[in-house]
Amino acid sequence: MAFISAWLQDRRATLVFDGRSSEPVDIRVGVPQGSPLSPILAILYLAPLYETLAARHPHLSLLGFADDTNILALGLSEASTCHQLEEAWGTCVLWAQTRGLTFAPEKSELIHFTRARRPWQQGLQLGATSITPTESGRFLGVWLDRKLRWGAHLQELRKRLNTQRFALTRLAAKTWGPGLIRARELYTKVVRSTIAFGAPAYHQPTSVGGKPRGLAVRLEKEQNSCLQVVAGAYKATPIRNLEVETLVPPLDLYLNKRVADFEARLDQSGLRVIMDDARLKILRRFGKRGRRGCRRMSLNAATKAFRPTDLDQTQEAIGAWRAQGDSPDEVVTQEWKNRFLASQRGRSLADIQGRTLLEAKKPKEIERALRKHLRRHKKLRKEESSLLIQARTGRIGLRKFLFLRRVPSIATPYCECGEEETVHHVLEGCTNNPGAYELQRKEGPIDTLIRRLQEGDRVRPILRWLMRRLPEYRLALELATD
Ligand SMILES: [Zn+2]
Repeated sequence: MAFISAWLQDRRATLVFDGRSSEPVDIRVGVPQGSPLSPILAILYLAPLYETLAARHPHLSLLGFADDTNILALGLSEASTCHQLEEAWGTCVLWAQTRGLTFAPEKSELIHFTRARRPWQQGLQLGATSITPTESGRFLGVWLDRKLRWGAHLQELRKRLNTQRFALTRLAAKTWGPGLIRARELYTKVVRSTIAFGAPAYHQPTSVGGKPRGLAVRLEKEQNSCLQVVAGAYKATPIRNLEVETLVPPLDLYLNKRVADFEARLDQSGLRVIMDDARLKILRRFGKRGRRGCRRMSLNAATKAFRPTDLDQTQEAIGAWRAQGDSPDEVVTQEWKNRFLASQRGRSLADIQGRTLLEAKKPKEIERALRKHLRRHKKLRKEESSLLIQARTGRIGLRKFLFLRRVPSIATPYCECGEEETVHHVLEGCTNNPGAYELQRKEGPIDTLIRRLQEGDRVRPILRWLMRRLPEYRLALELATD
């Protein structure tokens, strides 16, 4: 106690701006900003407010985070919920007066959650301030709309992702910028964590062997376009190959894992009890219509008496998914492998990915096989990684691919010798391309060259040689030889 009071008293503050300092000012109120002790003191100070509200208004659900207080009132009409909220506001004001505080009513927000076609319009009168309802609002970083669907969240998320993708594109290009490993890190640590924020609330888990659902379908596209940048690959590169090359699992599987981790945390932290309590309030409140005795039902019985909610469905789906392996990571790996193999049609050099993955049976082996792909980029420069992925997937600036993509200046998929112009043909050499024989004399016969590309083994000389044939890499070559 003595420590806290000494810590809060006799404080002075100095403002520093553009290198100039103000005279020290005495600080008589508040807690020091930025100290970890401050929020704890603030919570202790505010806790009696929650106790008072809970005692006077037992039907309300209360949830606070730091200085952000949320009051949830349940009712069958807007008049009923607004009345409950105004009463609660009255309690807050009275409590504040006893502490010498005032709340700022104009900072309050009102949202009516209803699936009714027309939004509820009634506002709140908080003292002299009128609050009109909004259609969506931000709660702990997640955007909720009045129908509890996720349109508003997706919209806000996309705004942030556009900025981030723009930055990623500026930083990492096909032929310059940070290497693939760094660019990948930028994606997973910045962009993907933005996407995954709030996933336990919005994500509809993918079932075992199933397809992505809900928001994950839209967000997958965001991940795909970022992985193209990370890998320096053509848009036409199959996404399953890109995921393996960059060691980034399909987004919906990653989100499944986040939900599974979250569910496990709920049980460990005791948060589940708080959530169940809030649900029980809702069930009891609305259960009495047509279902007598709901008021005294246990949560279990009350839940069974109703149609399963989104929350129940998520819990059940993620439980079944999680039961497929020893850990969420293992289930992701196994599902990832199955999806990759289902997508392969044996057309390109990337096939070897399929073979190593096919041979790997246990999750640990699959993981090792996947990691191997990323490792081979460790010693490569950005343009080398990018070209390696292009060569392995066949999506590369040679006539066969460019012709298929209908690039206007490419009238034929064939080399002048009459064969299709592919990586294999270019490395094999022909009368129009005798340089390849020189490469083979130095580095080994065609089968060796292909195997080295597939396995990422001593690829640099082969990539350098290929690069000279592709105009878009000219700049990279000049920079590298400088
Ligand atoms: Zn040829």
